[in-house]
Amino acid sequence: MIGLPTETDEDVMGIARLTREVLATRGNRGGGRVNVSVAGFVPKAHTPFQWEAQASREELVRKQQLLKTALRDRRVEYGWHDAGMSVLEAAFARGDRRLGDVLVKAYRLGCRFDAWSESFAWARWHEAFAACRQDPGFYAQRSREAGEVFPWSHLISGVEQAFLWQERLRAYAGAATADCRWAPCPGCGICSNLGASVLLREASS
Ligand code: SF4
Repeated sequence: MIGLPTETDEDVMGIARLTREVLATRGNRGGGRVNVSVAGFVPKAHTPFQWEAQASREELVRKQQLLKTALRDRRVEYGWHDAGMSVLEAAFARGDRRLGDVLVKAYRLGCRFDAWSESFAWARWHEAFAACRQDPGFYAQRSREAGEVFPWSHLISGVEQAFLWQERLRAYAGAATADCRWAPCPGCGICSNLGASVLLREASS
């Protein structure tokens, strides 16, 4: 995954370092190959990063190229997810009803089977957004305010917004949250909001 919030180029190069370490393992004396597949980060609704701006298409491409150079080795098979596709995913992942028109327009322009890279055409999607006077960047690359009402705010997942926001701050601080199956409850809200309980913890106690 590339393009995560707070990510530096040094972090990206960590993927290349890990690849070299795998190639150098004792088990790889036979000269095995390593497949490295990289996708751009897509902020999603109902997660601690739902407020984040996605990295721009250009920035994702730059980081893909950085890795391509660093992974130049005949024993490495390097593949990456189309950056335009990541931007599209981010737009629809946090989109609102206005994107319904974009979907229909894109279909009419010939967009089909876009999950297949050979069928995906960023230019057609761009044309569809423009024809509907919508900007994919508004949905994908815009930071949201703390109190912003989202198109998905009326959907109850059970997890409290305040908990997600705290998790976001913890992520920025590099702090891990304990797994409630084995550690005390950090209070996401699911158990009280949905009348649920952690069966694994009950089974092990
Ligand atoms: S124990 Fe329940 S409320 Fe606590 S973090 Fe786990 S799922 Fe959420």
